[in-house]
Formats: sequence, C-alpha cells, structure tokens
Amino acid sequence: MQDPYDWLAPALKTIHRAHWYRQPQPSTCKGAIATVQGRELINFASNNYLGLAHHPAVIQAGQTALETWGSGATGSRLLSGHRQIHHDLEQALATFKGGEAALVFSSGYLANLGAIAAVVDQRDLILGDAYNHSSLKNGAKLSGAHTINYPHLDMAALGQLLHHHRHQYRRCLIVTESLFSMDGDLAPIPTLLKLAQDFQAMVLVDEAHATGVFSPRGSGWVEEVNCSDQLLIQVGTLSKALGSLGGYVVGSQMLIEFLRHRAATWVYSTALSPADTAAALAALNLIQTNHQPRENLWQRIDQLHQGLKKLEWFHNPSLTPEIPSPIVCLTAPDAQTVLSWSHTLGDRGLWVSGIRPPTVPHSRLRISLMAHHTKADIEALLAGLGQL
Ligand SMILES: *Cc1c(COP(=O)(O)O)cnc(C)c1O
Repeated sequence: MQDPYDWLAPALKTIHRAHWYRQPQPSTCKGAIATVQGRELINFASNNYLGLAHHPAVIQAGQTALETWGSGATGSRLLSGHRQIHHDLEQALATFKGGEAALVFSSGYLANLGAIAAVVDQRDLILGDAYNHSSLKNGAKLSGAHTINYPHLDMAALGQLLHHHRHQYRRCLIVTESLFSMDGDLAPIPTLLKLAQDFQAMVLVDEAHATGVFSPRGSGWVEEVNCSDQLLIQVGTLSKALGSLGGYVVGSQMLIEFLRHRAATWVYSTALSPADTAAALAALNLIQTNHQPRENLWQRIDQLHQGLKKLEWFHNPSLTPEIPSPIVCLTAPDAQTVLSWSHTLGDRGLWVSGIRPPTVPHSRLRISLMAHHTKADIEALLAGLGQL
C-alpha cells in the first residue's frame, strides 16, 4: 500500500534546495537586547516599536486581569466570554483611531479574515495591493469575491482597474496596508480614498505597523494624513507597538454591529484572553500619555536614514523610501546571500532578519527599529552594514 504522506519528504527537500528552510529560534528579549542561543545581540528584528511589551504598567495590568478574570475568557463573546475590559478596550480603540466603534479579535490575522469575508462575497470585487500581507490576501480568498491585485502602490493602475471592472460588480473593496510590513513604504491614502469615492468603493486599511508610530498621538498613518474622519474600515493588531496579542477593526457603528453578526472569526472564536486585553488597554493609554518613546524612536529612524545615505546603500534611488519609517529593507541578490548577510551581522552582535521567498518575492534584510535603541546601537548597525 502506498503511504499517503510520502509527498512530505520531497516537498521538504525542495524547500531546502531553494534555501527557504526555516526554524524558529528560541530567544529572550529585554529592551533592545535579545539573547539568542546564548549570544547577546542588539535586536533589529522586533515589532515592539515602543518597547511596551516589557513596560511595568503593561505587565501589571496583565497580571491584575489574570488574577481578576482568570487565564482564559472561556467562551466566545456572544456566549459567555464577554468581559467589561473587552468593552473598555473597544471604546479606547475607537477613540484612538477616530472611528465610531471597534471590535477586538483574537489576532490581527483573524480580524482581516473576518472583516473582509464579512463585507464582500462572490458578487463583489476586491482590488488589493500586490504586496499586501498574507492575512489580507487570504481574507480575499475566503470571501469568494473576484480579486485583482494592482501593482504595489500604483494608484494609476488602481484607477484603470476600477474604471474597467467596477461596474460589473455589486460592491467593491479596496485593500491596502498603510506602512508595508516587508518594504517599509507607505500607501498614498488620500489618493486612494479619492478613487474609492469616485467609484463607490469601500476601503480597508491595515495599520498593523503604523499604529503607535505615526501621527503626534501615535494613532497611525491614516491620522498622519488627516483621513481619520473618512468612511474607512481600519484594521490593526494589538501585537506590535501595543506589545500584546489580538487584532481589531474600527469603523462606523453600523459596520461594527454588522461584523458582530457576520464576522465568522469573531462569532465562532473564543474571546481575547483577559490578560492580553488588559495589557493592550494599558499600552494604549501609555501611547497617548507618554510621547517620549515615540520621540526616541524617530530620532533613531532619522539617524539610520542619514547613515544609510552616507553608506550609499541605496544605489538605485527608486529603492530609497521617500518617507522614513521604523522598517528599513535592503534588497539582496538571492536567498543564500541574505542568509549569509544575516549571519555576518549576527557575528557582530546584530540581530537582523533575512526575509526570503515565499514571504516576499525578493530576498532582503529587514531592519526594524525600536524606542530602546541607543545612538550607539545604530552606529554599530551602520558599521555592520558598511562591512557588507
Ligand atoms: C502582523 C500583521 C498582521 C497580523 O497580525 P497578528 O496580530 O500578528 O495576527 C496583519 N497585517 C499585517 C500587515 C501585519 O504585519
């Protein structure tokens, strides 16, 4: 009899041959220092942009919630899992994002799947940026809507697609990230919203990486470009700058009410754990009351960008990000090279991830900065990059 799993060994071999094989490495992090396999490295691989994952007030809030409400929510929100802190967090997120209401999911991934699959179906059209996150692309698949990807950030192409296809469908949803997680560039939200208005399309913006980083209040890129008051579906995660776990959708009261009935990943999934919920709420309060971490972060971002210009790393000017952000990506010729770069930097005490296909189409080093980095940390990074 043939083994029904006999395809696994050759499939893994193919992954190895392409230098795509990966394995998680246990590490511990404290501030900007990570310990990986006994080595202390400066951490340029974390999404903990403001260092809030280890903030005493965030940890305390999580501990108190754990003791008050237990380790799990023990039910979906509509059955027995709804707690006052879920309500409080949703109120706070709506205010923070400038929307009427919010809904908290168990992860950002589930927020995207749930929201997209709820608002469109087979009769509808999705136009998505080609570099959108996996959760946005899989949300489109799950919805069954006809989906077309437009070239990354190409608003002219998006306009053409709307012009040619919009009229054949009932609803239309345009989907984009604001700060692109694997490229570090930003979507032109006002232009995109204008197109959406002209063609009667809804817009979903994923602010996973921009939240906590952009706009004076830390609300995100949508607020930075003065678009918070527009009719938008804003999604994000509690797991990056907010240092916790979970995801959310912010929008109109009616949108959120609709999602409470139709977003399957919310209705049929256990409510966010009390500790995660309380930690995110504490982090959200800190972001709005203490601007110092964000100011530190931006000083380091400026320092890195100045330094990279001096190194002339960006031989091709079109690769230079127009607007600095905490995510800086440096393209590598292939997967093998990016791995060797990452190892070389590791030997110099720098933890910089090499991102390879299939996560991205072309291999790259991905640097992410955080508020805890010092001036000397960035200098060490620049020296390491200079060696490459
Ligand atoms: C990380 C990320 C998500 C998923 O968020 P999680 O809370 O980690 O599941 C969604 N969208 C983008 C753009 C992300 O970078």
